[in-house]
Amino acid sequence: MDRSKTHYEDDHLMFGEALKSFLAKEVVPHQEKWAEDGIVPREIWQKAGEQGFLLPWADEKYGGAGAKDFRFEQIITEELANINETGLMIPLHSATCAPYLNTFGTDEQKQRYMPKCVSGETILAIAMTEPDAGSDLNSMRSHAKDCGDHFLLNGSKVFISNGINADLVIVAAKTSSEKRHTIGLFLVETGMDGFERGKKLKKIGLHSQDTAELFFTDVKVPKENILGHPEKGFYQMMEMLAHERLSVACTGVSGAQAALKWTVDYVRERKAFGKPIAAFQNTRFKLAELKTQIDATQAYIDQCVHALNANQLTAEEAAQAKLLATETQGKVVDECLQLFGGNGYMMEYPISRAYVDARVQRIYAGTSEIMKEIISRSMNLT
Ligand SMILES: Cc1cc2nc3c(=O)[nH]c(=O)nc-3n(C[C@H](O)[C@H](O)[C@H](O)COP(=O)(O)OP(=O)(O)OC[C@H]3O[C@@H](n4cnc5c(N)ncnc54)[C@H](O)[C@@H]3O)c2cc1C
Repeated sequence: MDRSKTHYEDDHLMFGEALKSFLAKEVVPHQEKWAEDGIVPREIWQKAGEQGFLLPWADEKYGGAGAKDFRFEQIITEELANINETGLMIPLHSATCAPYLNTFGTDEQKQRYMPKCVSGETILAIAMTEPDAGSDLNSMRSHAKDCGDHFLLNGSKVFISNGINADLVIVAAKTSSEKRHTIGLFLVETGMDGFERGKKLKKIGLHSQDTAELFFTDVKVPKENILGHPEKGFYQMMEMLAHERLSVACTGVSGAQAALKWTVDYVRERKAFGKPIAAFQNTRFKLAELKTQIDATQAYIDQCVHALNANQLTAEEAAQAKLLATETQGKVVDECLQLFGGNGYMMEYPISRAYVDARVQRIYAGTSEIMKEIISRSMNLT
């Protein structure tokens, strides 16, 4: 199946080609440096914004292209995977955080923030996880007290992607200590008194990604910065997690496709016992298996993308997509690295970076175990 004919239309392919050229010119030459720095420079966000690669779905009145079709987000994950760039988290900004603003924001909030999210002047992050609350979000300790014209926000968050670069962070905090699931989402801006960032966290992968801890001490968040209902943030997060999980699933299957491509090229060239590695039956069978698994996964993800476009994607289906794509990606990068032999363990080969970067895909945006919980709950098993 040629997805360029069966799944994409000309507009998506042109967008993908333009992004490919942009990444080749503006990102690829700097990837080593960014990985060493542990962060991408802010300017790259603005360059991406100028070219229309951020929030392509946003309304024209906010500077977007009004392209309300998740296939544009999907093709972004494919082009980023092709160059093995995981730190420049355009999907997090465009397909995870900004849809919160668009879905729950007031007209005034959208007017205030969306244009700069589209242009890349404002970089977004979302902060739910805490040192003692990851899978079990309801046990978060961050809290926000209603003080009339503002909320007083206290607490800390950990593992926050784009944590250093972010200008605007969607922060989840409890708004009642008595009632379960009573959480609000607060729009916290750089420069608000009491909002501080910790160091960039040292990770085994995603080296150019500025994952960080965030601290909030008596931050006065004005009422106009509440996103949605101050007591319904938990349900708002659940609603949007399907979006986020499909985006991670797209990244997962795109990463698997890219790893397979690099490996096919490698086994054709590399020789052992007088013949290319590709000539061994083990290599051919392994790659045939991986290709079959990837293509089946891709078909399901593409189906979910169409379902999302039609507003039909359920939380369970998004969980299945994330589980399938990220588990497949994990298996693919592991088996592909094996076919690279010792070279696969060397940082100069892309498969080594893909291997460590893929590992977190089964953890963030909800672990594989949590995905299985969500899926099994819908099966009326008990
Ligand atoms: C690089 C990176 C970037 C991240 N970016 C962000 C971000 O931008 N914003 C944000 O808010 N968070 C972010 N996270 C946090 C991420 O979403 C959490 O790490 C994840 O949800 C898991 O939570 P935890 O780490 O507390 O693990 P825990 O919840 O402590 O889980 C530990 C283990 O127990 C298992 N487990 C837990 N509950 C159950 C259960 N009910 N049944 C079976 N098994 C269970 C888990 O599956 C896991 O295997 C990021 C994490 C990383 C590593």
